[in-house]
Amino acid sequence: MENEDRYLHASKPKFECLLFDLDDTLYPLSSGLSVQVTKNIQEYMLLKLGIEEKKVPELCFSLYKDYGTTMAGLRAVGYNFDYDDFHGFVHGRLPYNLLKPDPVLRGLLLSLPIRKVVFTNSDMAHTARVLSRLGLEDCFERIICFETLNPTNKENVPVEEDDTELGVPRSSTISGTNEYMSEPNDSSVLPRTPVICKPFEESFEEVFKIANINPQRTVFFDDSIRNLQTAKRLDLHTVMVGSSQRIEGVDHALESIHNIREALPELWEAEGKSENIAYSGKVAIETYVKA
Ligand SMILES: [Mg+2]
Repeated sequence: MENEDRYLHASKPKFECLLFDLDDTLYPLSSGLSVQVTKNIQEYMLLKLGIEEKKVPELCFSLYKDYGTTMAGLRAVGYNFDYDDFHGFVHGRLPYNLLKPDPVLRGLLLSLPIRKVVFTNSDMAHTARVLSRLGLEDCFERIICFETLNPTNKENVPVEEDDTELGVPRSSTISGTNEYMSEPNDSSVLPRTPVICKPFEESFEEVFKIANINPQRTVFFDDSIRNLQTAKRLDLHTVMVGSSQRIEGVDHALESIHNIREALPELWEAEGKSENIAYSGKVAIETYVKA
């Protein structure tokens, strides 16, 4: 039995899943798309939420810094709005033609013999358009986006109905929208956001459940240091994309996602191993699931 355990352990590839952020990770910041996203968010704050023009840039940045997304921060401090309306305004008018097909990345992803999942704070429509523009729409096993973790914010919809319809358990922090004011409050204590998103641990834990991910055997790629630091606390192997400077909480740092093979050649080694000992690998996975 002891020998068998040792054999199973030795036969497992080191990593079994790759978890990718979308924006500024699967395409570079230099594309210019993110600048347009910020511009549209600030316009939404000004035109739709009536926030004073001179306060918009700083509030936009500080909420993003504190909550992972400006939208999550706006909800936390008391602004109430429809998520779809926000996403439609912010992403609906983006110049997606800034993104070009990326056959190099496509080739890399398709050659990787490991599960690949997208985990983004963006909404599904935006994610689909970005992946389509990049030519990567068929490179991932599944996409976990804003709607996956935040099924609805429609008022007067019972929570139980959401659960049944979408099959995703709602967090206890989301209990409908009635508790939120339509105007911001002035509390000096940082209020909680009803939005589930990176960099909060809760969002990662939901993703692990939804996609059946073992964090210890997963590599997480993101351009945000806060997201990477949460991921590291949760035992993921972390790769910063967009900078070659390694910071605490980051196992690897890549100037570009195109450098995956140079930085992590072991991801491809799993291919040879799985070919040679495919049967053993299968047994090992089944053992893990039962445990
Ligand atoms: Mg990003």
